Amino acid sequence: MRLTAEQTAGAAAFFTATITRLATRPVRIMEVCGSHTVAIFRNGIRQLLPPTVELVSGPGCPVCVTPNEYLDTAIAYSRCPDTVIVTFGDMLKVPGSASSLQAEKSRGADIRIVYSPLDSLTIARENPDKHVIFLAVGFETTAPTAAATVLEAKQQRLKNFFVLSAHKLVPPALRTLLSASETKVDGFLLPGHTVTISGFEPYRFVAEEYQVPAVVTGFEALDILQGVSLLMEQIAAGKAELLNQYRRVAKPEGNPAALRILQEVYSPASAAWRGFGVIEGSGLKLKPEYGEYDAQTALPLPEIVTNEPVGCRCGEVLRGNIIPEACPHFGRNCTPEQPVGACMVSVEGACAAWYKYGQGRWNYA
Ligand code: SF4
Repeated sequence: MRLTAEQTAGAAAFFTATITRLATRPVRIMEVCGSHTVAIFRNGIRQLLPPTVELVSGPGCPVCVTPNEYLDTAIAYSRCPDTVIVTFGDMLKVPGSASSLQAEKSRGADIRIVYSPLDSLTIARENPDKHVIFLAVGFETTAPTAAATVLEAKQQRLKNFFVLSAHKLVPPALRTLLSASETKVDGFLLPGHTVTISGFEPYRFVAEEYQVPAVVTGFEALDILQGVSLLMEQIAAGKAELLNQYRRVAKPEGNPAALRILQEVYSPASAAWRGFGVIEGSGLKLKPEYGEYDAQTALPLPEIVTNEPVGCRCGEVLRGNIIPEACPHFGRNCTPEQPVGACMVSVEGACAAWYKYGQGRWNYA
């Protein structure tokens, strides 16, 4: 049901009033997902909230949490002869230790941007004498399509298609955050789209084990205001429950068909996250029966030396410990045009969002 403009304004006013009434002490709420970060800025939601309610960004930007080691590996593959790298566009500008995919492309590497992993199969079919490597970066939302692409590659008996997997699962990162003594979060806006795939079960520990309220939240302005309102009601009442604001899309059982495909192709594995280090069970690795599509198994590289950008505080931004403005590079020598770290590259990156929507307010002489 679509609301009229009047109804929308009324609902926004109601949720804002509820939040304001309940904001009797300082509260920190983490929007886990980069899409939420952008929606919060785009809709001016911070300006609607009382000063006691702080929204902090979390680790839900897949490009941002992909560590340099992965980028350096992708760059090393791009330098191999007869190799095509296939990627989503937002990976291009992310700086690796000494280069970026964009820099390699400008030097002649065959790097192609696609909008769906399935496009890489077309490229593989059209280039049978080349290795075609898809950079599989993303959370539960994008992993099922990558898994379906592997199944399709098998069906088509493609021998020159490979996946460099950096797929990640959000709940283990939240557990790592909650286990860290420096984490000060009173409630989580959970990413509605990943929960739509995974269902509620993987997120129940947030409320049940750590007694932190959590709300599965959609991406419209009203969704976010209602999500914050539901968190504030819980915080005020001293409750910690997992609630679902995004009922029109996210179901407790998730998406069984997508989960079946994921479980057919991938198994959970340890994975490295920027700012978090290696988190057990937080990645997705191709199962041995699909090992022929695993780039690192089928096309091994010599050992790669990786460095993180000096002074970049992306890790602390992703853990919600600082806001991007606290980084000395922010807006000075780190901008979307000349990014120092990944959080300034992706459209979902917290630094990029703070820069884009705060532009004109920053005064960095
Ligand atoms: S502003 Fe740039 S250097 Fe600083 S944390 Fe963000 S991405 Fe890293």
